[in-house]
Amino acid sequence: MAENDYPASWYAATRDENRGHAPLTTQEEAEVAVVGGGFAGLHTARLLARQGKRILLLERRRIGWGASGRNGGFVGPGYAQRSGALIERLGLDHTRKLYAQSQRGVAIVREALTELGRPDILMGQGKLSVSRTDQGGDFADRTRKLAGQLGASFEPWPTARVREVLDTARYHQAIHDPTSFHIHPLNLALALAADIERHGGRVHEDTEALELSRDGGDWRLRTPRGGVKAQHVVLAGNADLGTVQPRIARAVLPVATYVAVTGKLGPRLGEAIRWTGAISDTRRAGDYYRVVDGDRLLWGGRITTDTSEPPRLREMMRGDILSVYPQLGEIGIEYAWPGIMGYAPHKMPQVGKIKPGLWVCSAFGGHGLAQTAAGADAVAAGILGDPTRAALFAPFGTGWAGGPVGRAATQLAYWGLQMRDWWDEKRQAQNAETLRT
Ligand SMILES: Cc1cc2nc3c(=O)[nH]c(=O)nc-3n(C[C@H](O)[C@H](O)[C@H](O)COP(=O)(O)OP(=O)(O)OC[C@H]3O[C@@H](n4cnc5c(N)ncnc54)[C@H](O)[C@@H]3O)c2cc1C
Repeated sequence: MAENDYPASWYAATRDENRGHAPLTTQEEAEVAVVGGGFAGLHTARLLARQGKRILLLERRRIGWGASGRNGGFVGPGYAQRSGALIERLGLDHTRKLYAQSQRGVAIVREALTELGRPDILMGQGKLSVSRTDQGGDFADRTRKLAGQLGASFEPWPTARVREVLDTARYHQAIHDPTSFHIHPLNLALALAADIERHGGRVHEDTEALELSRDGGDWRLRTPRGGVKAQHVVLAGNADLGTVQPRIARAVLPVATYVAVTGKLGPRLGEAIRWTGAISDTRRAGDYYRVVDGDRLLWGGRITTDTSEPPRLREMMRGDILSVYPQLGEIGIEYAWPGIMGYAPHKMPQVGKIKPGLWVCSAFGGHGLAQTAAGADAVAAGILGDPTRAALFAPFGTGWAGGPVGRAATQLAYWGLQMRDWWDEKRQAQNAETLRT
């Protein structure tokens, strides 16, 4: 596989025919130059191109090559940081506005599917966030209270209702969000890039932005064979921005997670999972999955700061699936791939202006499909003269993520949290056993 080819994923195998975009080999000028051809860069570039701005987007490899073309495909509101933690830190009013901005991101993605004439990219409606421990008698009240506080549409499901659609004793109550949906993310990325060009923007693959410098009142980006001078530059490179802006690059910690897709499982999959929406469990590093292509299971899970691909990835993923649905029996894994999420230490995205004309839209962590659109909307509005939406993200800065030490600390914290999840589950199982005997 050449370095810039897509990884061998189910998404790459089922992606749209696409001619690709030539590298930049000349010196160009634009009103806005965008670094990064993932959803953060694509939505920013598209929203501005549709407003008549002259856009040039640079992607080091291929459109959707990073997290945007390899993820679980769930589009839903909220952020990587939990709403409860945001309320504690920012208060209810600010958190409610941030949540509303994430809902705006969901709406932007949904509307894009219509505007692009691509309803086929939408693969299912609704999302269940299932708990692996019993949440107690006040779960429904707590969930409704939080939904009311946030202005959200999610609702509690009792355990019996969850088990009607998911045939596993692992799960207890769930939060059902009817506004979420799931998509083919790589095809959305490709369609967004095509739309940028339709609106007069330019998209260049195989073109890394290597260096950023001031050029009078403008900015200049140097690339291996050309460059661009622009009034505004938007850095949307996620966890692998490289040399172009070392301070922002250091502020985002790369965290790996994995996705697998089974072979066709036939009717036994529909007997185990009678739900066409998305599913995730609420552990800190929980499973997330959905049925695709009629009878294949697309299953994601695990996180680690070691970004190399584990040698026994397929076996690991098979084991994770069977630990929840042992009745599936023999299952073949046809595809398995890693992806990198970018996290800031505060687990919130970095969105806004860092210097006059220099913007960042990055660090969406494991919640990026709607949130990149929310961040892009805020940055695009800022460039067009309305700073209010970007100001919502101002409390979350672009501080250092700790380099290798930060990675080790994150891994330790993750193992600790994973142990706590494991212990909670085990203790409940033991309590249930004691009550039975
Ligand atoms: C396996 C996995 C599962 C996930 N599941 C979900 C999910 O179900 N729902 C959800 O909401 N989120 C999910 N996420 C998170 C979501 O995919 C990301 O938050 C989102 O895609 C981030 O988009 P992005 O544009 O910021 O980054 P990316 O998609 O990583 O794009 C950044 C791009 O910038 C390019 N780039 C970087 N530096 C330069 C440079 N100097 N010059 C030129 N180009 C550069 C990179 O090559 C890359 O293509 C998942 C992530 C992973 C990895």
